[in-house]
Amino acid sequence: MAQKHALVTGGAGFIGAHLVRALIARGFRVTVWDNLHTGRKKNLEGLGDAVFFDNIDIRDSKAASLETLKHGKPDVIFNLACPASPPHYQKDPIYTWETSVLGVRNLLFLAESCGAMLLHASTSEIYGDPQVHPQPESYWGNVNPIGVRSCYDEGKRAAETLCADYRRHKNLDVRIFRIFNTYGEFMHPDDGRVISNFCVAALTQKPLPVYGSGQQTRSFCYVSDLVEGILLLAQLPRELYDGPVNLGNPGEFTILELVKLLEKILGRTLAIEYHPLPADDPKMRRPDISRAKSLLGWQPQVMLEEGLRRTLEYFAAELGVSYG
Ligand code: UDP
Repeated sequence: MAQKHALVTGGAGFIGAHLVRALIARGFRVTVWDNLHTGRKKNLEGLGDAVFFDNIDIRDSKAASLETLKHGKPDVIFNLACPASPPHYQKDPIYTWETSVLGVRNLLFLAESCGAMLLHASTSEIYGDPQVHPQPESYWGNVNPIGVRSCYDEGKRAAETLCADYRRHKNLDVRIFRIFNTYGEFMHPDDGRVISNFCVAALTQKPLPVYGSGQQTRSFCYVSDLVEGILLLAQLPRELYDGPVNLGNPGEFTILELVKLLEKILGRTLAIEYHPLPADDPKMRRPDISRAKSLLGWQPQVMLEEGLRRTLEYFAAELGVSYG
């Protein structure tokens, strides 16, 4: 059988770098498109000829097209290209919105011209500050359309709309997964999300920055679990896909509970520095993963304590400090 070819946009980013490795391990030829806005070439180190890298901005319709694919048409496209950490996606909100919406439009054109399946990374942020808890896929969300988070929330919502319309009107095989807070190796030390900020602060003997009271909750998924879910969704028989699938770990923690867990792992008390809560910061978030369980037979395997241990080891190596 001919070797399958996957295109991973955002493949040099945190999640992309894991997905690329998992695809190579499954025998795929992989092309990565990444403009290195938040991704890093070093995340793909050691992969040699198994991966073809091209510096492509998916907003650019000329660049993100069939002509640019030096290694032929892909069978499947994974769209992971977009800054996802609040400080990063808010730094250049117009860029974020364009990447979400214009980017996915270009990839939908490409998928149509190649006859490829498109797997689109959406986000729990489309639920906004949720009034339904936990969040099932059927929940429409509670999103501020003009706030500082909207470039990402509304960008990803518009991208879902476009994917759903391409599916309905053009019969394209588009599948959406909604990622809940994910963490693990290959996160950038300056990523700006809570787990990377806390790990880096703890390892460099600085106070942990807690935003607001620390009573807000999140549900943290270890990256290998997420990637497994994405690959299972890609393998699902086409006729069984019936709309977006939440991929996240339903274990729910307050931010202060996260501090306590890090204290347990590190065996010492950690200093905290309180900061104002950012605008529109969701008060709680937890996935209902019933659909992923029944459709994909998927559920997370790595619990937060174990995932944090591995992540601390990774950050310690990145920062050149000792851990444990
Ligand atoms: N947060 C925090 N300290 C940090 C970074 C984030 O207390 O250094 C809080 C943030 O206000 C939010 C939660 O942790 O309530 C998760 O934030 P993150 O940026 O990781 O992801 P989000 O779920 O907001 O996209």
